[in-house]
Amino acid sequence: MSAQLIDGKAVAAAIHERVRSAIAARVAAGRRRPALATVLVGADPASEIYVRNKRLTCEKVGVRSVPMHFDATISEAELLGAIDRLNADDDIDGILVQLPLPSQLDATRVTERIRADKDVDGFHPYNIGRLAQRLPALRPCTPFGVMELLRSTGETFKGKRAVVVGASNHVGRPMMLELMLAGATATCCHRFTVDVAGEVARADILVAAVGKPGLVKGAWIKPGATVIDVGINRLADGKIVGDVEFEAARERAAWITPVPGGVGPMTVAMLMHNTLAACAAREGHAVD
Ligand code: NAD
Repeated sequence: MSAQLIDGKAVAAAIHERVRSAIAARVAAGRRRPALATVLVGADPASEIYVRNKRLTCEKVGVRSVPMHFDATISEAELLGAIDRLNADDDIDGILVQLPLPSQLDATRVTERIRADKDVDGFHPYNIGRLAQRLPALRPCTPFGVMELLRSTGETFKGKRAVVVGASNHVGRPMMLELMLAGATATCCHRFTVDVAGEVARADILVAAVGKPGLVKGAWIKPGATVIDVGINRLADGKIVGDVEFEAARERAAWITPVPGGVGPMTVAMLMHNTLAACAAREGHAVD
């Protein structure tokens, strides 16, 4: 069996189109565009690429992009002051601070300073707490995007075993919350898990989010499973690969995401969705 590919670019394009047409309808009705402030500190090359991509996608879907760039030497008080001003600005709907931050800045204090209803990354404890309590507000973009990919295959969740490999605050943990919210029986593996292979072998739905190339062996995959590879790893030859042994896993799975072109495009698509949702929620209504 060779798994069907889950085309993240196509699913993301459909979400872009949904957001674009909702914004076009707002503007046609005389309402303002949702606005997203993207805050970049320093000149980390990977962060620059991620932020540029987010700003370009804003233009594509009609979100007003408010780019902010601070020198790597900015003090925490100055950065918190800038966030306070964005928090107080009624014309700003979403605030995204690109992580990682330079070492003099405490990422937790910075993330927690963003108003929860403008936290379009979904990292604020309020938004994580809402997801944990089955009352999702702004949802963390990558796990939210994974759920969209799973739904695009027609995947159902009730009665299914889902295994998440990786337990980070931004991906693995909220991924567990999303899968439980959808009705799956979810297990989380992390660096102290004794038998990752045994856990993976029971997974109807597998999400790998570790950041180690080929950590999940193809031979571990349960035949017919759906495999979502969140990992992005650059090899010495420049090639980008995920955390799952793709070719071997493809022979056993029913559905699998490629890397690149799987989860990656979804994170930015869900950021656009969240920016529109934040704008609508502040105006007192919801979006689909
Ligand atoms: P992280 O380093 O914060 O967390 C890694 C997790 O993996 C930790 O919970 C750790 O306990 C676990 N882990 C480490 N070794 C393990 C092992 N041998 N067995 C089981 N678990 C192990 O990483 P992160 O921020 O969650 O990102 C994970 C990967 O996903 C990275 O490759 C990152 O680049 C990628 N990522 C992709 C997107 C996207 O949009 N596609 C978004 C975020 C992160």
